Amino acid sequence: MHGYAHLFVPGPTNVPEPVRQAMNLPMEDMRAPDFGGFVKPLLDDLKQVFRTRTGRVFVFPSSGTGAWEAAFTNTLNEGDRVLMSRFGQFSTLWVEMAERLGLRPEVLDVEWGKGVPVTEYARILGADRSHEIKAVCVTQNETATGVTSDVKAVREVLDALGHPALLFVDGVSSIASIAFEMEDWGVDLAVAGSQKGFMLPAGLGLLGVSAKALEVSQAAGMRRAYFEFSDMIRLNDTGYFPYTPATQLLRGLRVSVDLLLKEGMENVWARQHHLAGGVRAAVRAWSGCGIVAAPEFLSDTVTTIRVPEGVDAVAVIRTAYDRYRTSLGAGLAQLSGKAFRIGHLGSLNEVMLIGAVGAAELALLDTGARIEAGSGLAAAITHYRNAKTAQQKAA
Ligand SMILES: *Cc1c(COP(=O)(O)O)cnc(C)c1O
Repeated sequence: MHGYAHLFVPGPTNVPEPVRQAMNLPMEDMRAPDFGGFVKPLLDDLKQVFRTRTGRVFVFPSSGTGAWEAAFTNTLNEGDRVLMSRFGQFSTLWVEMAERLGLRPEVLDVEWGKGVPVTEYARILGADRSHEIKAVCVTQNETATGVTSDVKAVREVLDALGHPALLFVDGVSSIASIAFEMEDWGVDLAVAGSQKGFMLPAGLGLLGVSAKALEVSQAAGMRRAYFEFSDMIRLNDTGYFPYTPATQLLRGLRVSVDLLLKEGMENVWARQHHLAGGVRAAVRAWSGCGIVAAPEFLSDTVTTIRVPEGVDAVAVIRTAYDRYRTSLGAGLAQLSGKAFRIGHLGSLNEVMLIGAVGAAELALLDTGARIEAGSGLAAAITHYRNAKTAQQKAA
């Protein structure tokens, strides 16, 4: 087969060439005298990506799921009440983990396509006068449905009520991609993973922890071993780790953090917004297709696309892969067969996304969708051109 294979799933994302090359190096000694001099500034610079000044960032050799577990077990006690909401596959798994660990999640089920129910959170937290709820969880970007929730609004609810619960955010598919302000939004635990906005292979669980959460962790009584914060802190402060770090991934992370900070986080967020707009324009132009996310919850990192009645979304994804060497994201759980996803986060540009739209359009046509050939492409191209013209005028 000639040409490239195309990857448009919402994680793992495309790895930029300089990042990939930085990981291609001989094994190194993680106890070498100069290794700490590499690690310390890396951990420090990660704080700029998470936007925390007073917190710190841990890097665990795990996936994002490990960072979820680290967050819960280091800061809570068994039986603690935790306020959560469920509106997609990832928020569902997060609730399951809380249950498995012996927490008592109070779960609000929300229709898929919408996000965190802030008013309901306010009602429940307002009624919790004895402050039994110890943590409030927000899945900032539900990757299954392409829904972005308002983290800041949840912080405002907590502040208005003077409620001391810790604020947990699942930012696995949002941190390093869309606006995230750990310090300013008072986020206590911020979960991320290497294979999404950080543009790396899977294998690192990144966790931002606020000063308040660090203090709470000293008395928190849940069982934990591998993910113990205090072991990590003791070694990280000298530039080392309590167990063998994924040195290759850390070398890649150094370059990806450099790329992000050189571009500037605000510019990264603006780029994601610009790229997402073209994909959304294409979906709106495909007759019979729809965006699963309600208009006030649209995600700039992934779009979940409902296929027309009579079309099988599994066949769309399969056709894109078999005939066009293009990976589109699957519809998960209740969206299986009904929807597919285009991941538009990480290292991408307009032409790559025109390719994604083109591949989806080919596969939709091949599987019986009555869309007009070129309709989505024309809409995406027009969106990108208009947005560029507007930028140039403003400059
Ligand atoms: C990908 C993802 C996860 C799971 O992360 P893993 O790295 O696969 O463990 C959790 N939450 C969200 C929102 C995700 O997108």
